[in-house]
Amino acid sequence: MTVTPAVAFDNSYARLPGTMHVSVSPTPVEAPRLITVNAALAAELRLDPALLTADVGVGNALLEGMTPIAQAYAGHQFGNFVPQLGDGRAILMGEVIDLHGRRRDIQLKGAGPTPFSRRGDGRAALGPVLREYLVSESMHALGIPTTRALMAATTGERVYREQVLPGAVLTRVAASHIRVGTFQFFAVRRDLDSLRLLADHVIARHYPALAGAANPYLALLDSVMQAQASLVARWVQAGFIHGVMNTDNTSVSGETIDYGPCAFMDAYDPATVFSSIDQGGRYAYDNQAPIAQWNLARLAETLLPLIDADRDVAIRIATERIEGFPAIYTQQWLAGFRKKIGLVTEEDGDALLIQQLLDALQMARADFTNSFRQLANGETVSALASWSPLWQDRLTRDPQSAEDRRLLMRSVNPAYIPRNHLVEEMIAAAIQHGDYTPFETMLHILMNPYEEQPGAERYAAAPAPAEQVYRTFCGT
Ligand code: AMP
Ligand code: MG
Repeated sequence: MTVTPAVAFDNSYARLPGTMHVSVSPTPVEAPRLITVNAALAAELRLDPALLTADVGVGNALLEGMTPIAQAYAGHQFGNFVPQLGDGRAILMGEVIDLHGRRRDIQLKGAGPTPFSRRGDGRAALGPVLREYLVSESMHALGIPTTRALMAATTGERVYREQVLPGAVLTRVAASHIRVGTFQFFAVRRDLDSLRLLADHVIARHYPALAGAANPYLALLDSVMQAQASLVARWVQAGFIHGVMNTDNTSVSGETIDYGPCAFMDAYDPATVFSSIDQGGRYAYDNQAPIAQWNLARLAETLLPLIDADRDVAIRIATERIEGFPAIYTQQWLAGFRKKIGLVTEEDGDALLIQQLLDALQMARADFTNSFRQLANGETVSALASWSPLWQDRLTRDPQSAEDRRLLMRSVNPAYIPRNHLVEEMIAAAIQHGDYTPFETMLHILMNPYEEQPGAERYAAAPAPAEQVYRTFCGT
């Protein structure tokens, strides 16, 4: 069955050579039911929400012009290289050009097996689908680059994990689903033709200004580095921990992708790790920038033959670039934290001042989000009693009016983040009672994270000790 949308699909990735993807159809499911449709995003994509039915949401029906494919990619998972991963439970249905002229992928996550599924069932459970929907849309509302959620639907079928769980499909929207691991897939096969086509596709699609650069592939590396530095700094400023920063979960467009065991930190502790499978703390909060650099070094390796015909020269240039990452990141980190404490001027001592603030939060085990929000609202933060005079002194040399500073700080220090204990509670209500009210309520509040909402105090509060979540599980 196909449905005709007003908008034309333009599936540029499907037109690339067959080394890069395989055609695959979603596997129909028994009894699809819609959970929600993101009407605002549908409008941005020029898709009539009326066409976004449960059948379309699970892949039982296709919109005319869709050409479903599974994309090939490789990746380093927790440091170990896997030469073939690929879309094992996701199917790229097609691409549209949105209202702003940007190309966007529409992908079904959980729509059945593909040639890349290995031993997996190609399916997704309801919990991870709701988590990704809520957290990705919350990230977007916070202003952090991310894949989006267009719709969610249950399949009426069960999936078998440690428990038997209801199945669901998420419709994910991304600038593209091209990852560092996509480059690795061709590099390890020494398929230079596909590698070059991929790099050219990424440049045309995400970094069109580079097409005329003297060395476009080196410029590509620079641009992806910038995008990743900026992204990870935004995560750190929001207290977000991605949890699985594998190279296959690192988008070259600079969007946050693959919401598995991700979580927002409550009490500030830079060593925080949530993922149940991250035993060494590889993807701990404070390790995210070094890991981004490590992932970028893997990207740089794939680009070597394109950067210079002389491998030694290419290695020298690329190494120099990768070594520049900490400086680029620190600049982004500083710029963001300056705003969080209301500064518009720059002084050498600012990095130290910010570090002292973070140290004080850590000592007091204070809530990261609420401490900054209280500062923004001019409230006393007991954990910051001895830090506050240092800050006040610094503010005397910053020219903003108190009101402008308050507005700036309120615009970057959210009142609402998707608190883990509430995410878990929301998922339990849906799974155990088929009750989606908590999902809808939370989603509604999180769409305006920078405005206090009367009656929503519970969603801003830090968890009580007994409510605290220490472990999250991968969304497979
Ligand atoms: P992820 O942990 O979601 O980043 O996925 C890592 C790899 O495992 C990717 O190649 C996925 O496509 C694959 N994968 C994860 N879950 C499943 C599943 N249920 N069925 C098939 N493949 C899966
Ligand atoms: Mg992944």
